[in-house]
Amino acid sequence: MTDTDSPRAESTSTVEDARDRDESDPLAGYRDHFAVPEGERYMDGNSLGLAPDTALATLERVVDEWRDLAIRGWEAADPDWFHYGEHLGDLLAPLVGADPDEVVVANSTTVNIHTLIGTFLDTLPGTPAGPDPSADPPAVLVNDLDFPTDHYAIRAQLRQRGLDPDEQLVAVESRDGRTIDEADVEAVLRERDDVGIVFMPSVLYRSGQLLDVDRITAAAHDHGALAGFDCAHSVGAVDHALGDAGGDDEGADFAVWCSYKYLNGGPGATAGLYVHERHHGTTPALAGWWGNDKATQFEMRHTYDHAGTAGAWQIGTVPMLSSAPIEGAVELIREAGIERVREKSLALTDYLIELVDERLGDDFSVGTPREHARRGGHVAIEHPEGFRVSEALRDRDVVVDFRPPNVVRVCPAPLYTRFEDVYRVVETIEGIVDADAHREYDPRDGGVT
Ligand SMILES: *Cc1c(COP(=O)(O)O)cnc(C)c1O
Repeated sequence: MTDTDSPRAESTSTVEDARDRDESDPLAGYRDHFAVPEGERYMDGNSLGLAPDTALATLERVVDEWRDLAIRGWEAADPDWFHYGEHLGDLLAPLVGADPDEVVVANSTTVNIHTLIGTFLDTLPGTPAGPDPSADPPAVLVNDLDFPTDHYAIRAQLRQRGLDPDEQLVAVESRDGRTIDEADVEAVLRERDDVGIVFMPSVLYRSGQLLDVDRITAAAHDHGALAGFDCAHSVGAVDHALGDAGGDDEGADFAVWCSYKYLNGGPGATAGLYVHERHHGTTPALAGWWGNDKATQFEMRHTYDHAGTAGAWQIGTVPMLSSAPIEGAVELIREAGIERVREKSLALTDYLIELVDERLGDDFSVGTPREHARRGGHVAIEHPEGFRVSEALRDRDVVVDFRPPNVVRVCPAPLYTRFEDVYRVVETIEGIVDADAHREYDPRDGGVT
């Protein structure tokens, strides 16, 4: 889909045009809140968001509270530490389109997958704790292109219930190695009547495809299955309506996400989860005192009285120092407005895709869907020497990451990336391949990027 002959082409290909776009960007001022590394084009906000000053401020406040209040901080801090996971859940709820009671900040994403998949397996026939243990066992429907940890956690939860993961974990196949067609999710649901849980990502971590949460929820519910989502690659960049998803707006059943990507909560920041209110009261698979009803938690009874909200899926003490930055970081996104953040994200990725089409040769292609409704916050630029290109970019102060086999992920995170940065990134790639500079790098695969 190159369109170098279009009239648009000339106007997009100048740095002046990029600067014009920045001048008319209503969110341009937000960049000043972020610790943008001097001289760098940081295009990795889908892996680790940059630090906002507002997040550092709430972290510092909690450090001060710890120093000044010590144990009293659980009640005397403002907001108090005791209800802090719930408090952050209230702040996050509008970003995912849920009610405050349906969202809490707790645990890690992987742990939240464990507890929520486990919780809902226990409600299904064919599991030991389910309503009819002797029924045929339920299947969990995932996909071929999922982030690995999701499958590890689900397989473990199946195994712990005596179910064979090789039989009960079913993956929808990708037709093109990049995307998942929602029609194929629907087809599996029609073919097999044993699917108890559909668990899909909102955005695929490699190609950046945004899946149709609404359609998948409706399909799952039509076939008597629950619909859960891993929104790690979308919360903070894409607006969601989890509480209204599916036919008749009945809402997705549950979701998880992490706070260190587009939410800018810091490395390993405490994760978030959503459980629709119709499931409040269901017994969490991984019980712990922090999920107890807050009113009776400190009576220290030996029987667990779980909270009647999503707060029940907390496990242990809220990790205050890994949670505090989320407060300030989310404040910024709420102030900018998630719809406007999404709008700018699409404008940036539109621009990036246009430039790739216009400026880079035929060896490059865009693996991310071009339709807005199917695109998350990053763009997968494919090149047979993608690894070497990404290494060469890093040496030229462009921070991207590489995902095998051939994908350079470029994420112009909307709150701190300028159109000029996008322009410079494509210009840098062009310079690298024109000079064959990437061939100076080892073609080997690397470590964590
Ligand atoms: C980043 C990411 C995770 C990370 O899980 P952690 O428990 O935070 O390590 C999980 N799933 C998806 C889809 C992700 O993108």
